[in-house]
Amino acid sequence: MTLLATCQVTLARPVLQSFTYTVPDKLAQSVLPGIRVRVPFGQRREIGLVESVDLTTESSSHSAGKTRLREVLEVLDEQPLLDDALLQLCRWTADYYVAPIGLVHRAALPPGSLSSRSRAGINPKKHQVIRLTAELPTLLERDRAFGTARRQREAFEVIEGLGGSAALSHLDTGLGFGRSIIHGLRDRGLAEIVEETVERDPFEIDDPVEAPPTSLTQDQQNVLGGLIEQLTTATSNPGVALLRGVTGSGKTVIYLRLIQAAIDAGRTALVLVPEIGLTPQTVARFRAVFGDGIAVLHSGLSTGERHDAWRALRDGRKRVAIGTRSAVFAPLPDLGVIEIDEEHDGSYKQSETPRYHARALAAIRARTEGALLVLGSATPSLESWHNALEGRYRLYELENRATTHQLPEVRLVDRRNRKAESSASVLSDDLRDAIDARLRENRQTLLLLNRRGYATVQQCTACGWVAICPACNVSLTWHRRRARLVCHHCGWAEGVPGCCPECADEELSFGGVGTEQVERILSETYPAATIARMDVDTTGGKWAHGRILRRVRDREVDILLGTQMIAKGLDLPGVTLVGVIDADVGLNLPDFRAAERTFQLLAQVAGRAGRGAEAGKVLIQTLRPEHPALRHTLTHDYVSFATAEIADRVAPGYPPHRRIANLVISGRDETSVADAAEGLADWLESTIETGGLSVSVVGPAPCPIDRLRGRWRWHMLLKAESASDLGPLLRFAASHSPVGGSCRLEIDRDPESLL
Ligand code: ADP
Ligand code: ZN
Ligand code: ZN
Repeated sequence: MTLLATCQVTLARPVLQSFTYTVPDKLAQSVLPGIRVRVPFGQRREIGLVESVDLTTESSSHSAGKTRLREVLEVLDEQPLLDDALLQLCRWTADYYVAPIGLVHRAALPPGSLSSRSRAGINPKKHQVIRLTAELPTLLERDRAFGTARRQREAFEVIEGLGGSAALSHLDTGLGFGRSIIHGLRDRGLAEIVEETVERDPFEIDDPVEAPPTSLTQDQQNVLGGLIEQLTTATSNPGVALLRGVTGSGKTVIYLRLIQAAIDAGRTALVLVPEIGLTPQTVARFRAVFGDGIAVLHSGLSTGERHDAWRALRDGRKRVAIGTRSAVFAPLPDLGVIEIDEEHDGSYKQSETPRYHARALAAIRARTEGALLVLGSATPSLESWHNALEGRYRLYELENRATTHQLPEVRLVDRRNRKAESSASVLSDDLRDAIDARLRENRQTLLLLNRRGYATVQQCTACGWVAICPACNVSLTWHRRRARLVCHHCGWAEGVPGCCPECADEELSFGGVGTEQVERILSETYPAATIARMDVDTTGGKWAHGRILRRVRDREVDILLGTQMIAKGLDLPGVTLVGVIDADVGLNLPDFRAAERTFQLLAQVAGRAGRGAEAGKVLIQTLRPEHPALRHTLTHDYVSFATAEIADRVAPGYPPHRRIANLVISGRDETSVADAAEGLADWLESTIETGGLSVSVVGPAPCPIDRLRGRWRWHMLLKAESASDLGPLLRFAASHSPVGGSCRLEIDRDPESLL
């Protein structure tokens, strides 16, 4: 009997299991868990990650399978990329979310680590940028410069709106301005085309960063004292802290001081933020304090820079990491504290496989590594709030702003009984007057509309035809500047029909006002005002966002209009008015989180008002002023909203009362998908009965978006009293369910959205 060394290797493939390889003697010392290896797979060679190494007896391994095991070919790292704690975290993620372990490993490692092809990316890529070289301050000059070249003028104004420069690729594919238009601008001597490094690191731009306050308020001191005590006295398992602090209550300085305490104790710290591009100010404040000691993990880094940051963290040269969702896997040894800012934010849940929630992983990681997890928000997720009320999390609250500035006064503008779609009524008289007043006083206004494009529904008034995406069952949005109808789910774009394709009638109506239309209305209503728009269409370049913000902060902009991106964590002291064009956009979605999301968004955007010396005001236009998500926004009353909303979720059995999973079956053939969904539901019912599990199946039914990217979609919801009943059922379903053939089953555990 001889001993045989084997190892479990995971490959970045959509399969649940790992693969067994033998370890040749010459590699026996270097094949370790967490290290990358090159292995044969079919006819090819692939890069995989060693999950575990085992010693077996030669005979048992032979009887285990008929096929002979193949050998590891090469070891690629000197040290493990993932230590035991992180390997455990990945394993937990794969099990809990029923996700392919290799894809979890890929998500946990710097991008490209498991790809057998790409070794590049060390050098930053260049791209072509157009930069305006002329200003045309008067309308007359513009008319003269462009004459009949309307598209060139539009392009000029778009680039202006982006801060004076834009990537050609963004103008082209994103906004529909082809090269001939761009070259036209250059040939008129209005712009130049230059090479620029892709994705300028937003943090190289030396933004003036406000120094952290030197002294804390009494409330802040109490919270910090409690957190430090929690961090230092219970070293084996400090648990979870929920910090609910109204917008402007000064949570950041608490995060900073807590990290300092962890570092002083010889430990490390991890900070998660929703989206780095959207939170440059938050990141800058951490950078200002920790300087080179902090690694910023963001998608703008090249692969090489990512690896460098990784090694610096792993080797202890940097002791603090800040990043988005995937930074939850940052290799920090001796982790002392994890902080999740805006913990309620939906971006912490990954919307594709592996569909993990960074907050859940952070909780697991904190527990296994003995770290303190701090969740911070003005409007905590109802799950976290519920956990705090039930005593599982320790609750800390900051009810007041840290400065003398009061929370803004909020008013609802009841829009019922008005012709909703005429452009005149997009801005109510109240809102228009308020903007007027700000313009007169040289103050700034922030306007939120969470719907981009010009109009979201094009319909024939004669026969009722609606423009629908050929691949998705959703209406196409008219992007006027691009002169295209666009699908916001798959990106499909087509020309705007001159008449109805069904009945040839020329009377098409345009419903659902989007940001592009509001921008136009604003510029017609306030011709003298400088207006900037911020949404996915104007911020195509990752850091264009920062550029627009800088113009707002420098008071070059009077009115900033945008989608939810303008709501996040911005500190713009010149803003004294926040207007919400249509608060009902998100409220009417067929999703159980619609009210929660709306309340969070409104509270967040309201929090942008009055952060400077002057009091702020918030006007919210709605057709549903009596809805709790709106009523409680009036008084900034999170607790009452949460209490009402949690009570409302008892009867339908939604989180936080039940643990749920959304099972989506999709395929190209409508009938097969419906049949597969029915079959799966029956199979689940009988499995639940046999196993004596307390799980219920709701559905099957077509998904709210029943066709997406060419695939028909049905779903069912599993609801369970406890996570421990749901997990085994989901794992069993993933490997044994009858869904097969042309249909695909996707499992989304703890879904953020059911669309
Ligand atoms: P939050 O993240 O809770 O919304 P911030 O941390 O951004 O709030 O703080 C809001 C503002 O209050 C910032 O301008 C910050 O500098 C200021 N601030 C915070 N704490 C204090 C303090 N103790 N004294 C004076 N100003 C403070
Ligand atoms: Zn028609
Ligand atoms: Zn589509």
